[in-house]
Amino acid sequence: MAYYNNDTIIYLNGAYVKAAEATTDFFGQSLHYGYSVFEGIRSYQTASGDTKIFKAEEHYRRLKNSALALNMPYHWSVDELVEATYEVLSRNGLQNAYIRPIVYAPANMSFNPNKESYLMIAAWEMGLFLGDKLLRVMTSSFQRPNPKGFKIEAKAGGHYVNSILASQEAKAKGFDEALLTDMNGFVAEGPGANVFFEKNGKLYTPPLGNILPGITRATVIEICEELNVPVEERLFTTDELKQADAVFFCGTAAEVIGWQSFDDVTFPANWNDTIGRKIQLAYKERVTEGIKEKV
Ligand code: PMP
Repeated sequence: MAYYNNDTIIYLNGAYVKAAEATTDFFGQSLHYGYSVFEGIRSYQTASGDTKIFKAEEHYRRLKNSALALNMPYHWSVDELVEATYEVLSRNGLQNAYIRPIVYAPANMSFNPNKESYLMIAAWEMGLFLGDKLLRVMTSSFQRPNPKGFKIEAKAGGHYVNSILASQEAKAKGFDEALLTDMNGFVAEGPGANVFFEKNGKLYTPPLGNILPGITRATVIEICEELNVPVEERLFTTDELKQADAVFFCGTAAEVIGWQSFDDVTFPANWNDTIGRKIQLAYKERVTEGIKEKV
């Protein structure tokens, strides 16, 4: 897919420049060692016609926390980055966009810390990350990175080698996506999304600790409070997941997307009758500030 053309503008270290003319250093620590942190954000055309970045402040707070967790120098304020992001959207004429800020390291082939970091923000039009059909998911042979080996709460570039391996394995085996366990064998998350399951009118999701603290996950929990749906954050196994009435993934790029099956088990509930479907509709309405999808 083409992420940019000759007219595309990105934000690069305080300036708005043409993506096609921007450069980076082949001797950068980020390129060689995956030592970078990034975000995945979405903007939407709202009911009023305006463009709104969903949970922009939360994403930029997480970007800062990710950088600090990896000892990367970080001097940007949330406000200046939100403003820069709206400017990137406006300069590229984008409303429904996927936004990718990345903080990366200077040239440095050693493992030593750096005196500065660089920041780039790009945006492009992107459809749903996992499509809009119910997913066929498999238990990955890969586990999520051990929190004793990585700052798992950080959205760090290097962690995504794990996501790429898991997702590619699932697709090579004919599935749509993978589900990874944590280092103790409990369900953790997908390669790029958090997971919830529904059983007898209640939702369950893994607790924080071995997963990325998803902003969509937090939004789903907020929506559940409003809809009076009980949610419990606790560890569970893939065997328990197979007994669920319904399951869904959630993430900025994937939004809320139901599962059809997991390994060889097809979920019994009709997706349209599930709590997940109600949340999917409420999520769409929330990000667009009032656009209702026809049911
Ligand atoms: N887990 C992983 C591993 C992810 O990459 C993502 C996507 N950022 C998520 C969960 C969902 O996070 P969010 O809702 O903040 O996009």
